[in-house]
Amino acid sequence: MGTFKAIRIDKAEKGTTAALTQFDEAELMDGDVTVRVEWSTLNYKDGLAVTGKAPVVRRFPMIAGIDFSGTVEQSSNPAWKAGDKVIATGWGMGETHLGAYAEKARVKGDWLVKLPEGMSTRDAMSIGTAGYTAMLSVMALQKHGLTPSDGPMVVTGAAGGVGSVAVALLSRLGFHVIASTGRVAEADYLKKLGAHEIIDRNELSAPAKPLAKERWAGGVDSVGSTTLANLLSMTKYRGAIAACGLAAGMDLPSSVAPFILRGVCLLGIDSVMCPIELRKQAWARLASELDHRKLSEITQEIGLTDVIEAGAKILAGQVRGRIVVKIL
Ligand code: NDP
Repeated sequence: MGTFKAIRIDKAEKGTTAALTQFDEAELMDGDVTVRVEWSTLNYKDGLAVTGKAPVVRRFPMIAGIDFSGTVEQSSNPAWKAGDKVIATGWGMGETHLGAYAEKARVKGDWLVKLPEGMSTRDAMSIGTAGYTAMLSVMALQKHGLTPSDGPMVVTGAAGGVGSVAVALLSRLGFHVIASTGRVAEADYLKKLGAHEIIDRNELSAPAKPLAKERWAGGVDSVGSTTLANLLSMTKYRGAIAACGLAAGMDLPSSVAPFILRGVCLLGIDSVMCPIELRKQAWARLASELDHRKLSEITQEIGLTDVIEAGAKILAGQVRGRIVVKIL
């Protein structure tokens, strides 16, 4: 057995350390499929893990990285064989199971989704956990019954990873999209993705009234805290907000008023333990509904050596769209 390149997180006297180093193959954890990782991505959670800003990592040593695409090298799982192209996101990778910033990963075959027809492994990670979470949010809003005739959709953290893909998907479905951002300089970028209106995120960051003027039928929120409270208070009768993020905080200083007086619904979105069937649906829809031109518009590429520095930038809200990490 040999070694391979990986970003390794270790426990230190104070917090954790992260370094690009050689990792011993013998240290890989249990799993029935070994994958040659080709691409990974940088998500907000990866930023927390590589900088040690939040206790995301719960096993040491850890290989950081919550998602990857690549080619199966070895499998004792009947569903997979050497040469299959696969996607893996979540399931505790980079948290409790050795993760994606590595040339090799060993995981459970049940975690994997087959790379959709027509999608490259790079495209898959250009979408990554953030894009697939945006799709889960859109699917939840549609399951709730919302259609373009119900009214506009708001997207918060719009210039970020989840936000950018959510804007593109909702506009493609015919919704009037209101993009909320702290980076008004990114207005052109957001309009190219399909946003019809841009609002300054400060409009949504003051303490929320129990109910405010109805502005949208629904939305995708990657910000949390007072922003989510404001979104709820401004949602039209029987509308819904898909809550998937906490970029501004974990708290939710809201009231029950939107729920009991307007029948508004709060839809929780979790990508990490999402059942496999729903994942397959989400990836199939991403393959057919996300415009390739828009995907390349939102994507920047970095190498493994750049990940730790980029991790600090994503936490500072300085990353636009998506970052793919070239592994091989
Ligand atoms: P990004 O950093 O790419 O995007 C977050 C965006 O939120 C920023 O670009 C910025 O957008 C906005 N933002 C940042 N800080 C603040 C603030 N203090 N107040 C208001 N807005 C802020 O991260 P991702 O898109 O990868 O992830 C977004 C969130 O979703 C994270 O909290 C992440 O943990 C969560 N997430 C959850 C998942 C799940 O399974 N539920 C899966 C994936 C992500 P702008 O500059 O446009 O204002």
